[in-house]
Amino acid sequence: MTGTKTPPTRVCYRCGREAATGARCSCGEPLWLKIDGTDGVDATGRADRTDATRFSWPETSGSSIWRYRDLLPVSRPPGIGSVVGGTPLFRTPRLDDYAGCELRVKDESANPTGSFKDRGSAVGVARALDAGDDWVGTVSHGNMAMSTAATAASAGLNCLVLVPDDIPTERLTHIARYDPTLVRVEGDYGRLYDVSLDLPGVRFVNSDAPLRVAGQKTTALEICEAFADEGRTPDAIVAPVSSGGHASAIWKAVCELRDANLLNAESLPRLYFVQAAACDPIAEAFRNGADRVTPVDGGETVAYSIANASPPSGNRVLAAVRDTGGAVLSVADDAILDAKRQLARRAGLCVEPASATTLAGIRHLSTAGKIDPEESVVAIATGTGFRERSPLAETPESVPIGDLPERVASLVSG
Ligand SMILES: *Cc1c(COP(=O)(O)O)cnc(C)c1O
Ligand SMILES: [Zn+2]
Repeated sequence: MTGTKTPPTRVCYRCGREAATGARCSCGEPLWLKIDGTDGVDATGRADRTDATRFSWPETSGSSIWRYRDLLPVSRPPGIGSVVGGTPLFRTPRLDDYAGCELRVKDESANPTGSFKDRGSAVGVARALDAGDDWVGTVSHGNMAMSTAATAASAGLNCLVLVPDDIPTERLTHIARYDPTLVRVEGDYGRLYDVSLDLPGVRFVNSDAPLRVAGQKTTALEICEAFADEGRTPDAIVAPVSSGGHASAIWKAVCELRDANLLNAESLPRLYFVQAAACDPIAEAFRNGADRVTPVDGGETVAYSIANASPPSGNRVLAAVRDTGGAVLSVADDAILDAKRQLARRAGLCVEPASATTLAGIRHLSTAGKIDPEESVVAIATGTGFRERSPLAETPESVPIGDLPERVASLVSG
């Protein structure tokens, strides 16, 4: 695709108001990009298409997010942003008993920096290039910081990463590798999300920014397309939720596919989003039947990537699960760690604790009868566990080389 795409209009999922710029509607809810579906704006410039048929599954080959260029409002950038997505989706039969269903895993660790954040970073960086910006930025001390910094570096953009003053050195090292401009900020880190949006000269692509959501919806497009190839729809899609950016994006994909008649409105995949019990404001609102999330005093959890006590897209996540018949639930740390072990031992997958919440959540839902054994469920393994230091449970035995034949003979004979 050549040429520079024009900036897309933004729209509020709740009240339908539109805006040319900005991340928030005047009603307070987050905006997302209005580029497709049934609502008439066509940022791809293909005015010849009619609303209902504007998008169909691509004929072209190619396994990155750019396969869906018709649904992405930007030009393909150079560097790692040009190859994100197209991650593996596969059956993990040895986890079926534990999960209580027919399980598939969507392995987002296959992205260049090891998490789905690369999908959103690619689109944010691509828009910055289209707009002629010099700087992109993000407020993060985790995967999003690494992803934005790496994607910007490979496209030749400057990147500003705002981290909390007390960030552990180990995390700083992971981010600093890509040589962004790092600024430690003193004061209330929670307020930085809003403060960053008014900073001059830098395009901030924060957790639920419209451009990030546009890129991250491709996780669900890939899942649904893979099922469509087999003439099916997943019964449920399960992901961890923190800010609600990825969850919103997954819902947006489902909405777009429904609008394009590629998903049956009567049998949408149920969307389930999982939090850690120690910090679960969205799950709490869901349990209370509320349609607004109230910030909590978040506690510590092993799932450090999803401990957002005041999620900016929390209300939108509630709307997503109600629209699709799903739920927001939370799981305890010991269930998360057990699921993480099972993913490694029964599926060969080393994931972050945040990602293991999916399997813990699925197990909880099937035990509660909300997921049936014959249902096809996709767990999104959002990020790699390779960055973690994990203690060895027990030290393996040591055998003199001369004794090895005898020792192995006894091992393999059970
Ligand atoms: C960012 C992240 C999440 C949460 O995504 P949100 O869009 O903030 O809800 C989950 N898992 C991993 C590994 C992440 O990096
Ligand atoms: Zn609104």
